Amino acid sequence: MTLLDKVLEIYHKYYICPYCLGRMFALLGTETTNYDRGKSLLLSLTLENHRLLLTSKNIHNKAIQNLKILAENAKFSPAQKVLVKEGFEYIDTNSSKTCYLCNDIFLTLQKYVNKAINKTENYEFNTFLCGTSPSSKIINQEDKFKAEFNLLESESFKNHFNREVGKLLSSAINKSPDFQNPDIVFIFSLDFVEFDVQLLIRSLFISGRYNKLMRGIPQTRWPCRKCQGKGCSDCNFKGTQYDTSVEQLISPLFIEKSLATGSKFHGAGREDIDVRMLGTGRPFILELKEPKKRNFNLSHIMQEVNKLQARKVEISNLKYSSKREVIALKSKAENTKKVYKALVEAEEAIDKTKFEINITSLRKIIENNKIYQRTPIRVSHRRADLIREKYVYKIQSEYLTSNLFKFTIETQGGTYIKELISGDEGRTTPSFSEVFGNTLICKELDVIDIKE
Ligand SMILES: [Zn+2]
Ligand SMILES: [Zn+2]
Repeated sequence: MTLLDKVLEIYHKYYICPYCLGRMFALLGTETTNYDRGKSLLLSLTLENHRLLLTSKNIHNKAIQNLKILAENAKFSPAQKVLVKEGFEYIDTNSSKTCYLCNDIFLTLQKYVNKAINKTENYEFNTFLCGTSPSSKIINQEDKFKAEFNLLESESFKNHFNREVGKLLSSAINKSPDFQNPDIVFIFSLDFVEFDVQLLIRSLFISGRYNKLMRGIPQTRWPCRKCQGKGCSDCNFKGTQYDTSVEQLISPLFIEKSLATGSKFHGAGREDIDVRMLGTGRPFILELKEPKKRNFNLSHIMQEVNKLQARKVEISNLKYSSKREVIALKSKAENTKKVYKALVEAEEAIDKTKFEINITSLRKIIENNKIYQRTPIRVSHRRADLIREKYVYKIQSEYLTSNLFKFTIETQGGTYIKELISGDEGRTTPSFSEVFGNTLICKELDVIDIKE
């Protein structure tokens, strides 16, 4: 059976629109649309039967019959006009019939586009994507139809609808579809009669670096240990263990500007609460959820945040970012080099000569070498108990008094510096205390550089 015979066979029984006809043969041919594909098939049939009608006396009746199927059952106007032109009639009883496969959804796409556009009224976005969830009635009807005519070259209703609506939307709003990272996803729920459009607003990601200029601030909001954030007398009904956090100092202005419903702070590792983050700062990505605004002047926000949080937190290097960069940020954190400045107190006084001898051994043993750290006691309640190997690259020292020193230490990310100094009761080895044969305690710690 030829392709054209198959098309006639379909129209013997059903009316389907040119869009749906083309979709049934979507895998055949390229560089065309389903609509043009469907129309071409109907046009070819019209031409072929018009030719037969004009040239061959014996199959005259067959040609008229076929043209009538095209004119009446397929509602194809070129066939209707050929019949009239050649002095025949056709009956226009099917004009109110709707497409068996889509109930004329494809003939009224503008309706879907308009509703989608109305929903975006309050949202700023640069890219979009369409998604469709057709009812099971639509899918079953189409599956049965394909089986009945043994149609093996079709594409799905969903793909076809997404593409057609996407094209119309794109030109109506003058924005391009983005299949990887759309700002907004339109989800069409379709039935033969009713439909709805829902908007999925994708998060906006902004990357930057932060400096923490004050001690005593955690990186992210820390729920109260006693009430787990519900609010109790211990936390003054704030629900948090600390008054503020780097996150709480940075994000409100971004939420305000983007009209987001919330935010999430992603840091490339984190420093302890009592550790300052100096130098070029720590990379972070702020995720703004369901933002209404996406295009704003990042350097203005940066200046405002820095003015508002002066001497507490400072941000720099703001750029638009993506979800993919959040994942990279997390995996990169362990492989960066970090430079710390530590103020260290010794339990027993040491003179300068003894100090220099100790430093020489310290550098010989620890510099450019591995240290072994069993999970520190102070974090053992939230981290698995295991031994981590960490690399120490460089140690520099400064003798302040007989029991107060300064160290600059460059290590692999994720090294516990306070424990590297104290030894953590033998859980970190080798350690500064171990080499000095003295008890050394880190009194103050700053991160002064994160090298990528
Ligand atoms: Zn249709
Ligand atoms: Zn509480």
